[in-house]
Amino acid sequence: MPALEIYAVALPTPLRRTFDYLAPQTVTQGLPGMRVAVNFGNQKLVGVIVDIKDHSDFDLNKLKPVEALLDSTPLIPEELLQLCQWAARYYHHPLGEVLAAAIPVALRQGETAELSTEKAWQLTESGNACSPDDLKRARKQQALLQLLKEGPLSGQPYVLHKDLLLQDVNRPALKGLQDKGLIEPLEITPDPIRPEALLKSPPLQLNEEQANALDQIEFDQYGGHLLYGTTGSGKTEVYLQAIEKVLRAGRQALVLIPEIGLTPQTLSRFQSRFNRPLAVLHSSLNDSERKQAWLLAAAGDADIIIGTRSAIFTPMKHPGIVILDEEHDPSFKQQEGFRYSARDLAALRCQRLGIPLILGSATPSLESFHNAQQQRYRLLPLTQRAGGARPPTIELIDLKRQPLQEGLTQALLDSIEQHLLASGQVLVFINRRGFAPTLMCHDCGWLSQCQHCDARLTVHQNPAHLHCHHCDYQRPLIHQCPTCNSRELHCVGQGSERTETILQNRFADFPVLRVDRDSTRQKNAMHNIIEQVNRGAPCILVGTQMLAKGHHFPNVTLVAIIDADGGLFSTDFRGPERMGQLMLQVAGRAGRAERPGTVLIQSHLCEHPMLQTLLHQGYSAFAQLILQERQVSMLPPYRYMALLRAESKRSENAHALLLAARQIAERLSPSHPDLQYLGPLPAPMERRNQRFRHQLQLHASSRSRLHQLLTPLIAQLEQHPLSRRTRWSIDVDPQDMA
Ligand code: ADP
Ligand code: ZN
Ligand code: ZN
Repeated sequence: MPALEIYAVALPTPLRRTFDYLAPQTVTQGLPGMRVAVNFGNQKLVGVIVDIKDHSDFDLNKLKPVEALLDSTPLIPEELLQLCQWAARYYHHPLGEVLAAAIPVALRQGETAELSTEKAWQLTESGNACSPDDLKRARKQQALLQLLKEGPLSGQPYVLHKDLLLQDVNRPALKGLQDKGLIEPLEITPDPIRPEALLKSPPLQLNEEQANALDQIEFDQYGGHLLYGTTGSGKTEVYLQAIEKVLRAGRQALVLIPEIGLTPQTLSRFQSRFNRPLAVLHSSLNDSERKQAWLLAAAGDADIIIGTRSAIFTPMKHPGIVILDEEHDPSFKQQEGFRYSARDLAALRCQRLGIPLILGSATPSLESFHNAQQQRYRLLPLTQRAGGARPPTIELIDLKRQPLQEGLTQALLDSIEQHLLASGQVLVFINRRGFAPTLMCHDCGWLSQCQHCDARLTVHQNPAHLHCHHCDYQRPLIHQCPTCNSRELHCVGQGSERTETILQNRFADFPVLRVDRDSTRQKNAMHNIIEQVNRGAPCILVGTQMLAKGHHFPNVTLVAIIDADGGLFSTDFRGPERMGQLMLQVAGRAGRAERPGTVLIQSHLCEHPMLQTLLHQGYSAFAQLILQERQVSMLPPYRYMALLRAESKRSENAHALLLAARQIAERLSPSHPDLQYLGPLPAPMERRNQRFRHQLQLHASSRSRLHQLLTPLIAQLEQHPLSRRTRWSIDVDPQDMA
């Protein structure tokens, strides 16, 4: 009689446990990492086998067999499965949901794990005969035809559809050429070609610091490296040359970038250097594209994988290096559901794989900065701008007692004018979208409050409406006070639309281009703006933090930061750190080419020690100053933190659940300097989207102390009657205290 076989299956449910099923009567042997289809209650779910056992703690007669084994080999390699298991334990999140986050939707729904054919394009006979010069009147089509004519040079008679999209070819251009009978689509089975020459274009000659950084990276063992270099210091060149070494050793490179940094410009730097297949994983792929990219990486058919946060879960056949660019970026931490840090998981994954990790930034997170000081990471500094560009000069403009025109000082307006007249481009940074943050009645003091949140409605002019940026509630703009009927309604404060308007009026001869979430909603909008800026004529770019990252604007000679003060009195202890990072990132957009840049920063708090340190002594001294404060106030990275959040339509329920949590915690481990509890307290914005939000902070002197508490605490809290009626979550190493 064959031995009893039981699968422990992780299922995408909120329950923090696995479920036992009997193996099916098939010839294929189940293995951890394979997917199974099972009946769960009255649902059909797809789960992942995490363990194979010969016994169960449950009544064997009640165990159901799995409906089907969906894979013949493990979809999730052992290494990735272990990473997910570790993450489930560390973030105290159900393993089934962790795995669901790691696997592309199509595979999660049970589709076969086979590479599908891919759409590609080739020239027709008349396309071969046609010269790009014949298409002068359709520039996009002309460029596309040119591209396809170059395709055969790389050894293939076709170009993959996805590669064309990466090169910023648009669908109308494709359709145009197809309608003219010049190109035709075809379906091909991907077959990675690796021409003999690894490099498409030669590497740059590294400067001494870059060469030194590259030298310090050991490729056959784990090592964390913090590549700390100002914007334009040549970090990307170091990544490229590190990747070259990895590829020469027959291994794969995984590159993670913040969502907002994944621009065609960034991608093209990788594409134009290597003759090797590249897979991109980002949020705008559709399900089948995502699955394909994931499977190509797993099969070792993609040598370079570039993606955003969740790409940290990409399986690789021959992993060789992980690189995180802009490692300080908050988008590497997921802020809802499974609240993981891709940066921290990257470090763990590299350690287990025995491969190097490079974290790159001009403004490293204080966690990584601290790790470098503790010698846990090797610090690789790049202090010079590569390629000869000079660093910008930074000056403060004191806002106190200055007459202001919509938030702009005369000094700033004069400077903008000078730069425009000298044929420079100007970037104006304002970190608020909309026209004004609030509408106020001049007669009675009424404010445009959101009905659902403890927040004000933002005034938008284009189209005109009032909008809550927290719950998305919208209503038409009003012109009369709802309380006293006065018509004296004033817009209070500045938003990007308002700044755009004043600059348009003041500099009517120059284009003013606004970049924020509203102005770039339409496809290609961002692309068109970038294109116009790259043409180089003088113009003003006004925008929010969308402008701070990823893009290079070589002709920008002046960067103006309208208001530096927000971060200095933020309720979040990370406020000053984020302010400093953002300011330097924005400043880094200036003067990247031959022309030196100037940065002007308006502030009411010019004497603030943090601002002074940042501007006169640089980011390292600034980081050091904040680290000292964190140490004194016992905050991360000197303490380890977890945040229990609860929210409910009834404030008292959320509060009561957290109070219960605190009581459980006190019973498990009474407050002690090594383990302290703060709260329950109302969240910084207590009411959001009609729910009242409360939080309980847990602070510990070590990770292990924290986790020893969290495991039993959560198990007991799950049994609490209120826990089923109140939405709650646990956030380990929270990045945002809201
Ligand atoms: P970062 O990634 O740090 O912002 P980049 O790698 O984008 O910096 O480099 C900034 C500019 O300097 C780019 O135009 C790049 O081509 C150029 N550059 C980088 N390294 C070198 C080098 N060693 N020699 C000449 N130019 C370089
Ligand atoms: Zn009024
Ligand atoms: Zn709201």
